[in-house]
Amino acid sequence: MKKSDSVVSMRKVCKSFPLEMGGEQQVLFDIDIDIRVGEFVAIMGPSGSGKSTCMNIIGALDSATSGVYELYGRDITTMDADELARVRNEYIGFVFQNFNLLPKRSVLDNVMLPLMYRGLPMSERVRRAREMLKLVGLEKFETYLPTQLSGGMKQRVAIARALAGDPKIILADEPTGALDSKMGNEILKFFEKLNRDLGITIIMITHEFDIASYAHRIIHIYDGHIAYDGPVPKSESVLTKSEARVHKK
Ligand code: ADP
Ligand code: MG
Repeated sequence: MKKSDSVVSMRKVCKSFPLEMGGEQQVLFDIDIDIRVGEFVAIMGPSGSGKSTCMNIIGALDSATSGVYELYGRDITTMDADELARVRNEYIGFVFQNFNLLPKRSVLDNVMLPLMYRGLPMSERVRRAREMLKLVGLEKFETYLPTQLSGGMKQRVAIARALAGDPKIILADEPTGALDSKMGNEILKFFEKLNRDLGITIIMITHEFDIASYAHRIIHIYDGHIAYDGPVPKSESVLTKSEARVHKK
């Protein structure tokens, strides 16, 4: 693998959280992950297995307790908060289960948000936000408030917002978790399209095999360890079986 192809490179990444009564809880154990430009990866695993913790590290929202993490070949373990914010803003678009839209701001304002720190003139921000809304098929809804939209539409606004900053990577944490299956499938088809047509690297967290199957690769996390990392298997039982290996190590 050429260094320049690497989006995510984790070596022996561990994460612990301090416990209120003293001591700590280790949540991630020696995680090694390599993700290349243009991949569509699903991070799967049961609730509490450490998926969101892993994604927060990937997205530079949190840092590893130990190990090395390089994003686009840059060691971000040692960056301060300002530098991390810059890296996030430059490379990553986030999509969350609960959309994280500002409820009292219009759809257009919400999509313009990541452009605030780019030093672009207002007219350019509006132009770009409208272009993104068109891409997700919501150009007619720019004056609406998020509360007036269905869940699927809200998630499309959130995707337009993620795309407005021209990210190299979309990081999505349970993006269909709050949607019915029809809307969920629409969102996933959209991710497929972004990955195929625009070459955006997609890293998506889910605990559902059907959802993960849209990706080209599954990383299955179990109790903070990688139990499986490979192509989407024919059935979920392959992943479930891989869990047994974790505690044999
Ligand atoms: P998942 O996304 O797979 O459901 P998480 O990564 O959210 O799992 O959580 C894994 C474990 O880490 C859980 O036991 C959770 O309680 C703990 N955890 C996650 N975030 C924190 C935090 N900020 N402080 C303390 N414990 C945390
Ligand atoms: Mg989670």
